[in-house]
Amino acid sequence: MADYMIRATAAQGQIRAFAASARDLVEQARAGHNTSPVATAALGRLLTAGVMMGSMMKNQQDLLTLKIRGDGPIGGLTVTADANGNVKGYVNNPLVVLPCNDKGKLDVAGALGIGVLSVIRDVGLKEPYVGQTILVSGEIAEDLTYYYATSEQTPSSVALGVLMNKDNTVRQAGGFMIQLMPGATEEVIGKLEERIGAVSSVTSLLDEGMSPEQILEELLAGMDVEITDRMDVRFYCGCTRKRVEKALVSIGKKELEDMIREGKPIEMNCHFCNAAYEFSVEELKELLVKAAG
Ligand SMILES: [Zn+2]
Repeated sequence: MADYMIRATAAQGQIRAFAASARDLVEQARAGHNTSPVATAALGRLLTAGVMMGSMMKNQQDLLTLKIRGDGPIGGLTVTADANGNVKGYVNNPLVVLPCNDKGKLDVAGALGIGVLSVIRDVGLKEPYVGQTILVSGEIAEDLTYYYATSEQTPSSVALGVLMNKDNTVRQAGGFMIQLMPGATEEVIGKLEERIGAVSSVTSLLDEGMSPEQILEELLAGMDVEITDRMDVRFYCGCTRKRVEKALVSIGKKELEDMIREGKPIEMNCHFCNAAYEFSVEELKELLVKAAG
């Protein structure tokens, strides 16, 4: 089953909700970046948030960037997503290995440490919209909940989960976001809190084999949930050899000359997907001509 996300409304429009399955795309990120289990969990959670938050943008060209910078061993995470289900991302230090936390779970908070979450929306205006909050837990879902409450005044419940197999491949990944719209009644708020309190973690729902639809139907039971949209989601980078060439040309004549003097082919890796692009000395010489021209 390929990854996808759904949107829904409930309680006559007082609630909007998103849910996503993301196992394949998180596994692709893990394999591409060769991330450790805790780095996979951190990146997978942020990628899952990215697909749901990206889908809230309106235009084809709009770009969402989620960035976390922390003083923990992972250093940081960067994810970008568009409105069409394409997401990509990387971890600053993908090989970090940490002992499990006191709940026996991958210690994402410990890996991130104290830090800042930035949400950057480039929607074609002169300046992108940037919202920033401190990390309140470092577990990412809680941090996004806090971000929505403080930066966007939208009460939200965000859950993100990544579960690993014993061989460190991704067993399950996904999440949900439920938001209260302005004018939500106390009755609806109370009912929703009760429902959210009653379900176990999103990872256990996923591991029970529940689909995004089933997760929202469970969470919003008795609140007239209506699924309004379904969209396939994927890890997609879009980098090309041409772009990497441009980057090489832009680093300047001197650096290119140094590389040529080394007399060996060089390999450039894409930050976002880790794809490798090799350039022979001959090719570097051609780029040098471009850089000098
Ligand atoms: Zn790439």
